[in-house]
Amino acid sequence: MNYKVPRGTQDILPGQSEKWQKVEEIIRQLCQVYRYQEIRTPIFEQTELFQRSVGDTTDIVQKEMYTFKDRGDRSLTLRPEGTAAVVRSYVEHKMFGQPDQPVKLSYIGPMFRYERQQAGRYRQFVQFGVEAIGSKDPAIDAEVIALAMDVYETAGLKNLKLVINSLGDADVRAAHRDALIKHFEPHIGDFCSDCQNRLEKNPLRILDCKVDRENPLMATAPALTDYLNEESAAYFEAVKKYLDVLGITYVVDPNLVRGLDYYNHTTFEIMSTATDLGAITTLCGGGRYNGLVEQIGGPESPGIGFAMSIERLLLALEAEGRSLDTDNALDMYIVAMDEQAKLKAVELASSFRAKGISTELDYASRKVKAQMKSADRLDAKWVIVLGESELEEQAANVKNMELGSQEKVPFHDLVNYLTKHKVQ
Ligand code: ATP
Ligand code: MG
Repeated sequence: MNYKVPRGTQDILPGQSEKWQKVEEIIRQLCQVYRYQEIRTPIFEQTELFQRSVGDTTDIVQKEMYTFKDRGDRSLTLRPEGTAAVVRSYVEHKMFGQPDQPVKLSYIGPMFRYERQQAGRYRQFVQFGVEAIGSKDPAIDAEVIALAMDVYETAGLKNLKLVINSLGDADVRAAHRDALIKHFEPHIGDFCSDCQNRLEKNPLRILDCKVDRENPLMATAPALTDYLNEESAAYFEAVKKYLDVLGITYVVDPNLVRGLDYYNHTTFEIMSTATDLGAITTLCGGGRYNGLVEQIGGPESPGIGFAMSIERLLLALEAEGRSLDTDNALDMYIVAMDEQAKLKAVELASSFRAKGISTELDYASRKVKAQMKSADRLDAKWVIVLGESELEEQAANVKNMELGSQEKVPFHDLVNYLTKHKVQ
């Protein structure tokens, strides 16, 4: 056989999957506490949804989408991100009509982008994201940022940096756009062909270019923050005040422009400052998208959200040398010495499991010694050995592997005994 996992994807095997479960548990718990209810949308959507919302000139739409025609000749795309679909659903199900706005939603699931594979960059990856749609209160911007930070901190990360910026409103963007064109136009020949295309279509994208990152004109480009009008500046100040109230430290980076077209006002990224992480340090990206709901066909409903991949969170943990507190402990291993004992072992295992006591036994007819070795390898808390004499006495010695002690317990009392001692 010569099959391999497709390039840019990975199998998450036991040993690793417990970590995923733990992160998902942290996420679910925090979403419950912050009140972001889960929404599940399809893995694919009409291609046009992404073209129009993410933006025609973005890397995602131009280079990274998995687009295909179905048998009915419709163009569909595996979702490259979550916001477009959530907003589509918000409009389709008229959530704007719900009495409590903003509607606060969260999602977790696979996203697909045709990218060059490297550490922290996959073609299928899992994003956790939230969207708060229907409010332009700066306090909700701070809440969304706080939730993202809380996920990382609860997972155990310490080396984090929050970077924020404001892209302002449409007027600000227009004035800044003119300034950018003036700045880059005389030297655009020195830039990559993508940037040359971006100059007229969307010059802001040039600042986000990965090819021309080192060009000196990048550092001297007009900063959006210098173009903020009074309203946008006041909004940004209010967001910062709320972050201060929450005790969240941040750095303002006037060059932070995110790779999707729909952002305005608040944008932010959370980076890992762990030295062992390698080239990719951004763990989470998000921002405000006033106007996106209207663009997708709904009434004015300003929104904000973020997305983070679980892959990068786990890489950051690894880079910091931290491990998650996963729970894969085995409570009980039952060793059976013969066929009669095996019958009893199966019966007891069932009664243990019914009470939430995780139980394992041998399914390979191995000798007692080999079974004991398994119990050791699996790090069982307790072991009982069943043989002729145990069946006769209807009792077994419960060995506590941690303490090295043992106690004889009648079969009919085992469940009680184990339940009582498990919680201690
Ligand atoms: P980058 O600049 O690294 O390409 P991006 O701007 O494309 O990131 P977003 O679209 O903002 O990223 O996605 C939000 C988050 O999703 C990122 O911060 C990262 O955690 C994660 N992410 C994005 N692309 C990938 C990928 N190919 N593999 C794993 N995680 C990813
Ligand atoms: Mg990208």
